[in-house]
Amino acid sequence: MSAIEDLAAELAKLPGIGRKTALRLTYYLLKQPPAQSRRLAEALGLLVERVRRCSVCANLTEADPCAICTDPRRDRAILCVVEESADIGAIERAGEFRGVYHVLGGRLSPLDGVGPEDLTVTQLVERVSRGAVKEVIVATNPSLEGEATALYLQRQLAGQVAVVSRIARGLPVGGDLEYADGVTIAQALSARRAM
Ligand SMILES: [Zn+2]
Repeated sequence: MSAIEDLAAELAKLPGIGRKTALRLTYYLLKQPPAQSRRLAEALGLLVERVRRCSVCANLTEADPCAICTDPRRDRAILCVVEESADIGAIERAGEFRGVYHVLGGRLSPLDGVGPEDLTVTQLVERVSRGAVKEVIVATNPSLEGEATALYLQRQLAGQVAVVSRIARGLPVGGDLEYADGVTIAQALSARRAM
């Protein structure tokens, strides 16, 4: 495979980038000064070298444990479960939540072959069973799969923690937490209900 085809094939694996766009991006890079493409390559190298999962909450981080897990001002009795690290960013921007997080690494999706063993469910149950957590807020996305995941988690956590709650439905159904505005997220969190 030629260098051009090689890069285009890699870019085409990215979400939302088809074969045509991949080739267009490749030719675009070839028109730029070589230093720019080298910086891109370096940034990708640093990304995979430095970023890892927090051993406590599975958030993406360069320091393990992550900044949230090590922050003494965070309330460890309230744990918010999200699908992806990007969701933490969205909730943090809303600025209301002072607890800690747990990142599932996705949602249950039988059609895509994603089962509980592909998510950090075991780590979550272990973490909660240690007893410091008083409430688990399930903040998976309001999609069919997100709801199914929330129900599954509720069953797994029953008896391990005093309260399992679900964020309110202020979020548009099928919408992603990641793209919701801060006010909507803050309302969804404060209007949460026990499951
Ligand atoms: Zn963490």
